[in-house]
Amino acid sequence: MELTGGCHCGAVRYAAEAEPFDATFCHCADCRRIAGAPLVAWFSVPRETFRFVKGKPRRYASSARVERGFCADCGTPLTYRHLDHSRGLDITTASLDDPSLVPPRDHVFFASHLPWMVPGDTLRRYATTRKAG
Ligand SMILES: [Zn+2]
Ligand SMILES: [Zn+2]
Repeated sequence: MELTGGCHCGAVRYAAEAEPFDATFCHCADCRRIAGAPLVAWFSVPRETFRFVKGKPRRYASSARVERGFCADCGTPLTYRHLDHSRGLDITTASLDDPSLVPPRDHVFFASHLPWMVPGDTLRRYATTRKAG
């Protein structure tokens, strides 16, 4: 599917022609603080399907081997890339032009969730990563 999106001010725009995978809600403390939000919805696409079509994000290493991209003008978090995982690039679902296209399928880092952030869904909750179970 053709996925397009960008930041709030419009300086950075992206597109990906891909079937999204690993759509999730992340409750980790890094995502939370970087977004200033109780959780962040993400999905992944194969890296080669993704391109910036307008502007370039600023990059920030939120931890070792991790690169987050955000708009330097308005601050919208856009991408997450683990440099050791060559396959996928993560994109913030809410930066899509139509976020309803990519519903999250599970919760990750639920062990870090805020006590007052109580999801009303029945999606699977992983304590940390999907891989760890
Ligand atoms: Zn912006
Ligand atoms: Zn996270």
